[in-house]
Amino acid sequence: MWLSTILLIGFSFCIWVFTVLSLQKQLRFATLLFDLLPYYPILELSAALCFTIGLYLWLPLSYVALVGSIGWAVTLLLMYHFIKWGKGYSLDQYRFFLRTIKDERYDTLLFNDHIDGDFKKNKVNVLLRHDVDISLFRARRMYEIEKEQGIRSTYFFRMHAEKYSHEEAIPLIRQLHVDGFGIGMHYDMLSFTKGDKEKAIALFREDLVRLREIATTHIVCPHGHRKYKNREIWSELDRESLQVWSAYDMKYDFYISDAGGGRIIDSQGRHILGRVDEAKLGQVVQVLIHPDWWF
Ligand SMILES: [Zn+2]
Repeated sequence: MWLSTILLIGFSFCIWVFTVLSLQKQLRFATLLFDLLPYYPILELSAALCFTIGLYLWLPLSYVALVGSIGWAVTLLLMYHFIKWGKGYSLDQYRFFLRTIKDERYDTLLFNDHIDGDFKKNKVNVLLRHDVDISLFRARRMYEIEKEQGIRSTYFFRMHAEKYSHEEAIPLIRQLHVDGFGIGMHYDMLSFTKGDKEKAIALFREDLVRLREIATTHIVCPHGHRKYKNREIWSELDRESLQVWSAYDMKYDFYISDAGGGRIIDSQGRHILGRVDEAKLGQVVQVLIHPDWWF
């Protein structure tokens, strides 16, 4: 009896702590193992149920009602926050955005093809970029949706990601390349070498060669790290001989980004991707989407 109570209540606490961390500390990647993102509400409900049963096995009914209601309040609060956050990151929202930029007013371009800044004057030029930080699975899903909608974008891959190896990424990079999508390097060498600039610069060159063995690329962008600023090596690279350009050095008038995975629907209910409407003909909009948050 005691063991069941401890297990049930312990399980509930684990789920609640996991959800709070996921929502607050951007640890949604913890869900990568089982892709739990779509099932958070179900998890929350199971936590509340287990909590109530655990209490029932332990306390008199009047206490079960009192303490149990606290558990249910916590669950409902977490569900409310999750659903509110999750609405912004639905793949249907993303499909809607892709349909918008399919309109003849827009032209979706690849970074590698427009390094020279040659953009159309009679279109809104959209540079669609994906930084693949964590999940190859979600990157692949985003690519499949874009392929289904007939939109091509540029995927920036890390060479030293915590959650995937370069070798694991190769099949997806190949497939994207064959389908005419753009490939870039999401450079993370300084965080990988723990701040050793000299090593990071040497590694940048080696990694670029490794990536170019699979796909042609001249475009890179830095991966954000809490401690080490990967972009710090940019000014010290011999970019001329490496033939690389940064996505941030390219001309753009608008920048739309989901970086950080925060709320992307404003208080008036407007999604940030809707801002693409504000661009005028001839302007360039750079859109950064991290596939990791979208489900
Ligand atoms: Zn990144």
